[in-house]
Amino acid sequence: MKDIRIGNGYDVHALAEGLAMFLGGVRIDCPFGFVAHSDGDVAIHALCDAILGALAKGDIGKHFPDKDDAWKGIDSKILLSKVCEMAATDGWKVGNADITIALQRPKLAPYIQAMRETLAGVMDIAADRVSVKATTTEHLGFVGRGEGCEVWASVILIKE
Ligand code: MG
Repeated sequence: MKDIRIGNGYDVHALAEGLAMFLGGVRIDCPFGFVAHSDGDVAIHALCDAILGALAKGDIGKHFPDKDDAWKGIDSKILLSKVCEMAATDGWKVGNADITIALQRPKLAPYIQAMRETLAGVMDIAADRVSVKATTTEHLGFVGRGEGCEVWASVILIKE
């Protein structure tokens, strides 16, 4: 049997008016976006943490500190590709990824397929190995009040 590793990641970002929203590597058309040092793509951040978790190499804040101007406003797809490079250096490739996004609005259904294809492209795997699911929280909690977005990600890494 191939050697495998499992990892999980979690991230939250606050929402604010007038910022561009990026989620799962895709630009979302809405009047608010995520407060962040990077482009605020909370889904990619959770995915990066899942991969780093599987590698037991800390978290995204350790590798791309928000004190470092090198990462200011950066496209989070670049962070994901760097994390995948770290995995590849040790002989690992993402087997599959499963991402759950909790956001009250806007509805993400029109963007799900583009997110799957975009993330798969960055990770250099087939899109049918990437699952993106979205839910509201039925108006409960900070997500339900429209104050932020919460994302969970799980991955399996396979030794090449
Ligand atoms: Mg983050």
